[in-house]
Amino acid sequence: MNTGINVDVIIVGGGLTGGTLALLLARSGLRCLLLERPGSKPGQADDPRALAITRASENILRAAGAWEYLPEDIPGRIEKMQVWDARGKGHIEFDSAELCEASLGYIIPQASLELAIQQACSNQDAIQIRQATINDLGCSTESISLCFAEQSRASASLVVGADGIRSLIRELAGIPYLRHDYDQQAVACRVKTSYAHDNTARQVFLDDGPLAFLPLAHSNECAIVWSTSPAHARLLTTMNDKAFHTQLAEAFDYRLGKIIESSERSAFPLSHAQATRYCQPRLALTGDAAHCVHPLAGQGANLGLLDSASLAEVLIGARQKVQDLGSVTVLRRYERWRKGENLFMIKLLQGFKYTFESNLDSAKFARNAGLDITNTITPLKHFMMRRASGLSGDLPLIARNPD
Ligand SMILES: Cc1cc2nc3c(=O)[nH]c(=O)nc-3n(C[C@H](O)[C@H](O)[C@H](O)COP(=O)(O)OP(=O)(O)OC[C@H]3O[C@@H](n4cnc5c(N)ncnc54)[C@H](O)[C@@H]3O)c2cc1C
Repeated sequence: MNTGINVDVIIVGGGLTGGTLALLLARSGLRCLLLERPGSKPGQADDPRALAITRASENILRAAGAWEYLPEDIPGRIEKMQVWDARGKGHIEFDSAELCEASLGYIIPQASLELAIQQACSNQDAIQIRQATINDLGCSTESISLCFAEQSRASASLVVGADGIRSLIRELAGIPYLRHDYDQQAVACRVKTSYAHDNTARQVFLDDGPLAFLPLAHSNECAIVWSTSPAHARLLTTMNDKAFHTQLAEAFDYRLGKIIESSERSAFPLSHAQATRYCQPRLALTGDAAHCVHPLAGQGANLGLLDSASLAEVLIGARQKVQDLGSVTVLRRYERWRKGENLFMIKLLQGFKYTFESNLDSAKFARNAGLDITNTITPLKHFMMRRASGLSGDLPLIARNPD
């Protein structure tokens, strides 16, 4: 790396949230340095996760200029959703046609999305992409700088930590991360089923956690996310394909018939967390570095993209008013905006998780009755659909309309 790089904003972490933030800022003329760890390859094809991406996130990715790098045959469409409880009769169904929308969102392999963002970043002159090992962070009244193991440094008005759950920037800044580990892991892979998915995302709540089948672009291919106990996750990732296919189809009550094929399986430990602060002088956190949630509602990356769009809106507004991008007055606008929205989602998902996993008779009754009653109350259903597809809430402008 060259010595002494100076830019407007240094973004540490070239994943979904960091890459998108760099694109949004660069399109408004801010000079960015996007930093990755040496040897890291966002967009690695062996990541089995596929993300449920909301309409709001689609708008953000379009505005950032990343959506156009996704091959046309990659996004699977979510036109309907079905959720039910395996230990009762309660169920709920959502249909995008009820909102007069073509879809509620998309299912996109995480690796494909990261690659699209990376390609868009590589074609932006205002973004410098580098790999370096961060040794230290130093802040003065005028600027903030990073020192690298490669005997070089970079400085800017602002450093953004978009470096994921184990954020080094958060640690160097001394910002506590209040984390609660669920005693659960999510097993993810892709499967081919004997019945077509009909562009429907399905999720069943089992004894040990939810199991989701998410529709990919091909009519008979789904991404699965099976949240379960660590012991069961270990079993699921080590058993042979035949045993796995049988266990998976049975757990899903053969709703999509038999499992014909599956990809490599990986298990991800699950937790929820929130950083006590999202900013301090000349530093801000976004995405998983600031918060993380259970994947049962497919919201983690969507919240991160909303962070990026909100922070970009605040910074671009500050630049127009000739304000210092690293000042706490500016950064607090972002923190006030996003911290409450993210906390709301963390608490909501925590509530869902406990209600659906409890084996108490009262909880079983409440969740089954709740699903059935909600299914019949149209305004409540529409509110939930709008929230899940990211069409409501305190949204940044580009999340409503990418133009
Ligand atoms: C099983 C599973 C299923 C999920 N499903 C969904 C879903 O359906 N929908 C959804 O919205 N979300 C989902 N999520 C959550 C989603 O994957 C994350 O929220 C999202 O990846 C967070 O993006 P990020 O850019 O903030 O962090 P990350 O994806 O973790 O990216 C961080 C980046 O920072 C880099 N980095 C780390 N340390 C350094 C360093 N020191 N220096 C430089 N770079 C560094 C990393 O290499 C990486 O590229 C799921 C998660 C799991 C585990």
